[in-house]
Amino acid sequence: MASKRIYLSSPTMHGKEQEFVQEAFDTNWVAPLGPNVNEFEKEMAQYVGIAHASALSSGTAAIHLALRLLEVGEGDVIFTPSLTFSATCNPIIYENAVPVFIDSERDTWNMSPEALEKAFEKYPSPKAVIAVHLYGTPAKLDEITEICGRHGTVLIEDAAESLSSTYKGKQTGTFGKMGIYSFNGNKIITTSGGGMLVSEEEALIRKSRFLATQARDPARHYQHSQIGYNYRMSNVVAGIGRGQLLSLEGHKNRKKEIYAQYKEAFSDIPEISMNPLNADGDANCWLSCMLIAEGCGVTPDMVMDALESENIESRPIWKPMHLQPVFEGYDFITVQAEGSVAEDIFTRGLCLPSDIKNTSEDMERIIRIVRGLFR
Ligand SMILES: *Cc1c(COP(=O)(O)O)cnc(C)c1O
Repeated sequence: MASKRIYLSSPTMHGKEQEFVQEAFDTNWVAPLGPNVNEFEKEMAQYVGIAHASALSSGTAAIHLALRLLEVGEGDVIFTPSLTFSATCNPIIYENAVPVFIDSERDTWNMSPEALEKAFEKYPSPKAVIAVHLYGTPAKLDEITEICGRHGTVLIEDAAESLSSTYKGKQTGTFGKMGIYSFNGNKIITTSGGGMLVSEEEALIRKSRFLATQARDPARHYQHSQIGYNYRMSNVVAGIGRGQLLSLEGHKNRKKEIYAQYKEAFSDIPEISMNPLNADGDANCWLSCMLIAEGCGVTPDMVMDALESENIESRPIWKPMHLQPVFEGYDFITVQAEGSVAEDIFTRGLCLPSDIKNTSEDMERIIRIVRGLFR
């Protein structure tokens, strides 16, 4: 089979990126920081509608700094969804804190407000709650912010997958005390690798820049009174980001078209349902996912194998954190009498190719292969 590979979600450059990168080269400003970094921060803050942003080397670094800025330390409890990518949770372990994994709800696949409430009964004073907007679908932010507010707990939003998604007209990532975005290779826009921490509080963002540049005290000699990191974004990378940001709305529109096309194409197959989009929001449809009815004879593995044999990339749903060997022994909170929503989605779901470069012929091929399994 000589057909070209169809990807799950790969980088799409447009040309403007190169101009900003060229500017960095022409001015010899390839070192860390520089004008592209400053501008990218301003442009991102303006795009999402928040006061301050700091450009970092990854989304994971942004989550780590958010925890550091809250002075999360040994033994502190952090609530986080179980159904997410491990990068949401790894920084909790970097700081020797304790993740407590929260189950998902069906309506958005994100952190269940009921399970979150139940977690507060068992752990009344967690240091923070991390909410994730999985596959670009906004979480139930009204409920989650209300619960966090009532318990006096800080909310951090991991909006790595949901840049450009809105909830009640406001950008995801701007509801908590801090929000993070990722520009990793497969995200809706990419800088090859990078991340952003955002907040309304200038002091937090100023301190994030300090920690991200080795925590040098304001002295002429190299003096340090805190442990720092090398987490800043380079001026070359920020140039790519500035160019990509100009195409973000276009990427979102194309992702939404892809989702709509799958939904329409599978609408007559009762065994298939698509991942939910929050009716209170406008999701960026970063990845289109499908769920397969139990016991219908088709499994996610069968779909992924059929696609792979035609050189088409797909992948499983994130494996829930409470089922990961590395997080064995940490608590998991669910309101289900048996099993969990997170595990059910993982078992029955998969992510369909959602690359914005997919042509209509590509989409028709993918759809034909999937439909063929359900005859
Ligand atoms: C991609 C991703 C991250 C991490 O971002 P990086 O920039 O790759 O470090 C964090 N959380 C979620 C949910 C992600 O999908």
